[in-house]
Amino acid sequence: MELFDSHCHLDIADFDLDRDEVLVRARDAGVSSMVIPGIDAIRWDTLLTLCQSEEGLYPALGLHPMFYKKHTVDEDIRQLERYLSEKSPVAIGEIGLDFYDVQGGTNAAGAGRRRSGPGRGAKGESIQYEIFEKQLSIARDAALPVILHVRKAHDEVLQRLKKYKVVGGTAHAFNGSVELAQRYIDLGFKLGFGGMVTYEKSTKLRELVKMLPLESIVLETDAPDMSPTAHHGERNSPEYLPEIAQVISEMRDISVDEVARATTNNAKAVFQL
Ligand SMILES: [Zn+2]
Repeated sequence: MELFDSHCHLDIADFDLDRDEVLVRARDAGVSSMVIPGIDAIRWDTLLTLCQSEEGLYPALGLHPMFYKKHTVDEDIRQLERYLSEKSPVAIGEIGLDFYDVQGGTNAAGAGRRRSGPGRGAKGESIQYEIFEKQLSIARDAALPVILHVRKAHDEVLQRLKKYKVVGGTAHAFNGSVELAQRYIDLGFKLGFGGMVTYEKSTKLRELVKMLPLESIVLETDAPDMSPTAHHGERNSPEYLPEIAQVISEMRDISVDEVARATTNNAKAVFQL
């Protein structure tokens, strides 16, 4: 069985102590390929070095919307343009819009242990638009797919995907209606599903995973965040990807091999590998 983790933050510090062991266990579990999406420019070099050191690790470079306060926009965008030709990332990501209002709380879904967030009150819409649109324009010019992070901003994102005519990509940690999923699919996107589908209480999400065409699904862990139910409260890891494939195979009443084969092919197609 060959699995593809389309979204895994293996570069971040949570894996510094045992990254090699995690990789060995992930390989043993059949996870032969991973895309490592960028979060901010400071970590791009580490991410690229990691991807060079191992077969099957593919870098994506981008400025994550949740960390808009940390990005030095003009400088980071210039570096991104330079790195496109020098370092050959497979995608621009993760990028998008995050208008989830954290009003005094911690940003649990997706933020995990990482610092920062949209901040209290102001969600930084205009700066998020600027950073997102600049990266969409770069992706379009380079004919590269994008890895999307979207919260409370699907209409705003879809509108811009149409405007900038990007080649497609993945909508990471998708959790919306079938109609919304179809709007992404129509624009050449695959929908990323991870640990959330392993929770029985995720009834809507599981229903969605059952109904979507198999060609539109990619698997992801989003490690170290979004752990599947068997590892709730622990660090997530790419080695748990088979648990997600297993749940999807049960939901759709097909073999786990079929899920693995299809989702791996989908990921390879969307990342042009
Ligand atoms: Zn992510």
